[in-house]
Formats: sequence, C-alpha cells, structure tokens
Amino acid sequence: MPTMKTKTELLKDARARVPEVQPVELSRQSPKPVIIDVREKQETDGGILPGAKHVPRGFLELRIEETVPDRNADVVLYCAGGTRSLLAAKTLAEMGYTRLRSMAGGFGAWKDAGLPVEMPVRLTDAQRARYSRHLLIPEVGEAGQAKLLNSKVLLIGAGGLGSPTALYLAAAGVGRLGIVDDDVVDESNLQRQILHTTDRIGMPKTESAKKTIQALNRDVAVDEHRVRLNRDNAFELFSKYDLIVDGSDNFGTRYLVNDACVLLGKPNVHGSIFRFDGQATTFVPGGGRPCYRCLFPEPPPPELAPSCQEAGVLGVLPGIIGLVQAVEAVKLILGRGEPLVGRLLLYDALEQKFREVKYERDPACPACGEQPMRELLPEYTEASCAIAPRRTEAATPVRVTATA
Ligand SMILES: [Zn+2]
Repeated sequence: MPTMKTKTELLKDARARVPEVQPVELSRQSPKPVIIDVREKQETDGGILPGAKHVPRGFLELRIEETVPDRNADVVLYCAGGTRSLLAAKTLAEMGYTRLRSMAGGFGAWKDAGLPVEMPVRLTDAQRARYSRHLLIPEVGEAGQAKLLNSKVLLIGAGGLGSPTALYLAAAGVGRLGIVDDDVVDESNLQRQILHTTDRIGMPKTESAKKTIQALNRDVAVDEHRVRLNRDNAFELFSKYDLIVDGSDNFGTRYLVNDACVLLGKPNVHGSIFRFDGQATTFVPGGGRPCYRCLFPEPPPPELAPSCQEAGVLGVLPGIIGLVQAVEAVKLILGRGEPLVGRLLLYDALEQKFREVKYERDPACPACGEQPMRELLPEYTEASCAIAPRRTEAATPVRVTATA
C-alpha cells in the first residue's frame, strides 16, 4: 500500500520544511528576494506584489528554471492565503532550491497590512495577436508592450520626419500620439511625407495624419494640435506627453523645443535632414547631459542657410532619420538600450555611411549650463532651413537640416 497523506499532514510536512515570512518583514527586506506569485492568472486582477514574477502554480515546475536559474537564490513564494505557496515551495525544495520561504497569509495579508500593490498588465487577445512579435522579445514582452500602450509621445511636425516616425510608433502601439502642425498637405509634400495621400491635398496635415494612423491601429489615440508651436503654447502642449520627437524644419522651433524640454525635464529626440545628409541625436535633460544648444550654440548665418525650397531633400532620406528617431523613442519608453545621448549620428546617403560624433554639455550653455535658465529665452526666430556649424568641429561645418 502506498502511503496516504491527508491535506493536514501534507501541510504539516511543508511547514516543517519551508520557513514562512510575514508580509511586513518581507516588505522591509533589503536586498529584495525573488518574489514569485503562484496564483492563477485571474486571481492577479486585484494586483500583485511590486516586482513579483507571476508563475501560476500549474506551471511552476515547468517555468521555475527559466524564471530563477540560480537554485541558491533567495526566493519567496506567495499565493492568496499562504497555503498553496507553502506546498509549491516544498516542491521547489525537492527540485533543489535551497533558500525558499512562503509568505504567511498570502496576498490577502499583504494587502491587509496596507502594503503597496502593483496592478498587472492586461493585454486583450487582439493586442496579444497584434503585438505578438514584440511579446516574443524578452526586452519588450507584455510589460514593455504595456509601457508602449501607456506612453504619450508628441511629434513636432507631420512632415518628412514626422511621417515615418508617426507610422512606426503607431504600429508599435504607442498609445497616444500628439501631432503639432498648422500646415495643409501640399502636392510637393507627397514625395516624402508618407502619412499623406494625393486625395488629401489641401487637408490639414494633422487631420490627414490622424486618418492614416487610425486606419493602421485603433489602439492609438491621436491628438491633433493644429497650431504653430510658439513660446505661449509650448509648455502646455509638452506637459501632457512623456517625450518629444522634434521633426521641425527650422532653428527657431528647434531652440524652442529644446528650451521647453530642458525646463520641463522631457526627453527630446532630434532629427534633421538636408539633401542627402541626415542627423539624429537624443537629449535627456539633467545629470550633466548636453542639450541642443550645447551642440548647436547658434543658428547658422542666413547666407549659409538656403531655404527649404532651394535646398531640396532626397525623398527617401527622412524615412531613415525619422525611423532612427522612432527607435530612440521606443527605447526611451521601454528603458532599454543606449540612447543617442551625447552622440550625434550622421548619415550620408550618397556614401551610404553612418558616423558618430560625440559631444558634451557646455557649462556656459544658456539653457542647461551652470546658470540654468528659469524661463524661456527671449527670442525664437525662424531661421530658415540650414546648416549648423558645430562648435566642436567648426572647421567642417555639418550641413544639417531642414526641409522636413
Ligand atoms: Zn545645453
């Protein structure tokens, strides 16, 4: 006859083998142990412990080795009331895990103690299907996709750069896109501004952008800001978004975007294009990191700055630079990788070459320097499309810019 054990005996065995930890004690422990929530999926709707990994009891033996590869790691399991986690911990002990505890009283006791809980991410079935290729990437996954869906990005301009950026951010599931543009679609835009179509000539660009984006992905809310960005509306517009993607085509706007971002502490992903040349870089205010004014202290003199119409731009080029900006935006939202902070990425389409120039914060910068500005600087003139000589490399002026 095999030995039969009652539930009570099983629990008694588990208790003898697995120590328990009280919720308050667990909340104060530093460094934090690995916390595993072994409840069923629907039980986590009311929240989970901050930082806990969810491995339902039914999958525990199958998934624990990839979740906690180190068998000597400090591991705490919990369930709803403290019983299932005790039994689960006993099973893990049999698998060779050496430092296991079970949280006494489970999630209920944690909540009753007034300790913080984290609401879990819930993608719909449709979202799981749509973003399945993101969910497969460990650096994105369900949590990363939820960050994207909860993120708010403001695009300055729905032109050459803003078009590819908006399309790919929308496809990636960035939940809210604000678009600032006071222009209407012109026939000459269609060579590169892929948000817009021939039948929309004369339509406001924000309206055309919204139509295109919503046809692509209904998860994305689009805010139309049919205005020209200026010193009076910049703060209010920027404050509603997590980060700004600057696809503007003139220096006045770029300085204004920079200064407002520095004052509000918002990341600013910059791109510019000129004929066959493009540039991209990212500014994240604070921590001694440089801003746009550190890189380009002054707009170029007008004689070095041909107008957009005169200069021209290869239609495909903004696709490259706008998508570098989109990648930067997604990385910042996910908190993954190395953004282009302090690095100016230069692209030469004719040579098909990328190169990178490092730059640093200028202590004398009027925006982010030792004496930081308290409000927007007096003037943001609309210097035309152009070419900005970089302070660090004045001998070889970098043609940067315009014609978004
Ligand atoms: Zn600066």
